[in-house]
Amino acid sequence: MLINKLISNMLPYMPKNLVWVFSKEYIAGESIADAIEAARQLNSEGIMATIDVLGEFIKNLDEAEANKQEYLRLIDKVEEADVDSNYSLKPTSFGLLIDKEVAFNHIREIVAKAASYDNFVRIDMEDSPCTDLEIELFRKIKEEFPKNVGLVLQAYLKRTNQDIRDMKDIHSDEVPLNFRLCKGIYVEPEAIAYKKYNDINTHYLEDLELMFQEKMYPAIATHDKNLVEGAYKLIEKYGATKDQYEFQMLYGVTPALRKSILDNGHRMRVYIPFGKDWFGYSTRRLKENPNMAGAIIKAIFFK
Ligand code: FAD
Repeated sequence: MLINKLISNMLPYMPKNLVWVFSKEYIAGESIADAIEAARQLNSEGIMATIDVLGEFIKNLDEAEANKQEYLRLIDKVEEADVDSNYSLKPTSFGLLIDKEVAFNHIREIVAKAASYDNFVRIDMEDSPCTDLEIELFRKIKEEFPKNVGLVLQAYLKRTNQDIRDMKDIHSDEVPLNFRLCKGIYVEPEAIAYKKYNDINTHYLEDLELMFQEKMYPAIATHDKNLVEGAYKLIEKYGATKDQYEFQMLYGVTPALRKSILDNGHRMRVYIPFGKDWFGYSTRRLKENPNMAGAIIKAIFFK
């Protein structure tokens, strides 16, 4: 809708407190304490968490260092608070596109810290200039910390099914590859990405089936009830037990579907973003998905 597109374009120029009215449903807050509180609340509903410090595509390596320090503080605080959560991170916020060795060392340090608590770090997948780099990074870190790191794969990319096959060399029954499968959120060229809803969903389920076939551990990240239904069929077809997969959703999104998945006896993990960069994050996400602007109109005018 034109109005949605208009609103999403205007967002970066709107007053911060107005955007917060909408964003607060999707972001835990600015501080580590806010993220821990959100995780605790979800835990009380039987839901696991994965916490992400907002920030991506940084401009200099000082920001990369600061982001690493924030993750190291986060990990200590989460473990101290004893909430059921792991961690998600975006490699560009550690300088992946500025100096990949620096980014690698920062992320290695974060995974080492999580591993010292027997916990886990998910490497988010960003836009296509990062795909090869993020697979390379994942391979390298998994070599040293086989149980403590996972990667995200995007079903809209035409290469993904082959990427899954190519990574079989680092997969074993004892330490299965742990992939979060999502549709993909960035705007990608048609040459490399499926664009139509049906095509993306067909490939999503093909990729998921391959993961079940190979006995990998899929984190089924979606709010699309058709994909959830498709996933249920695959879980049954492959006789996957509850500890061999999990569902994942974003904080604040489709809580009714989330509850129905839990009520059906599956495990659920919610992605909790927090941090001082919430304004940039919200406006970027809303620009990418103008349909969400409808929710802003509601939040602004009907609250
Ligand atoms: P859609 O068909 O897009 O959505 C189904 C329905 O869900 C929509 O009709 C709408 O009602 C609702 N919905 C979906 N998203 C939102 C939202 N943000 N706000 C409000 N309502 C919404 N993408 C990446 O490219 N890289 C990543 O690393 C990554 N990590 C993710 C981690 C998790 C846990 C999740 C759940 C998603 C992640 N994504 C990531 C985003 C993903 O790629 C999709 O863009 C997003 O999940 C929407 O796809 P969908 O499967 O929910 O289906």
